[in-house]
Amino acid sequence: MRISDILRVKGDQVVTVTPESSIEQLLEVLAEHRIGAAVVSRDGAVVDGIVSERDVVRALALRGAGVLAEPVGAIATAKVRTVAPDAQLEDVERLMTRWRFRHVPVVVDGALCGVVSIGDVVKNRIGELETERSTLTEYITGDRA
Ligand code: AMP
Repeated sequence: MRISDILRVKGDQVVTVTPESSIEQLLEVLAEHRIGAAVVSRDGAVVDGIVSERDVVRALALRGAGVLAEPVGAIATAKVRTVAPDAQLEDVERLMTRWRFRHVPVVVDGALCGVVSIGDVVKNRIGELETERSTLTEYITGDRA
């Protein structure tokens, strides 16, 4: 399955924050959209970084609650691994496993066009397995599930 197939169903909305937004504002955005990470972007198109709830937890543990007033840019990851829409679901699974993160922005011609999360990966993988199982059951028994 291609990433573009996943985005067609889930949509291409990407929640972004600017590097100057405070970490407190980031937490409001994450809570409002019920997500675990936001792409850091100055113009809403170019990926300048990514920041997840894990970065906030780590900063809070290391520096205390005062960190909430600091800018997102102070804790974001600058080297972001992205995929193109024609990448396969397996490519994203490999990236998430290899680098231990749960979010991968989708970029085409240098501009954001979606995000795939571990939740999307699991949902689509389960869908594929269910389709495969009913096809095999039908093949073996001759019955439609
Ligand atoms: P996550 O598991 O996505 O909450 O992120 C875990 C850590 O990886 C955090 O430090 C994130 O800033 C970072 N991170 C998340 N997604 C990416 C990505 N696609 N490329 C590089 N770093 C990432």
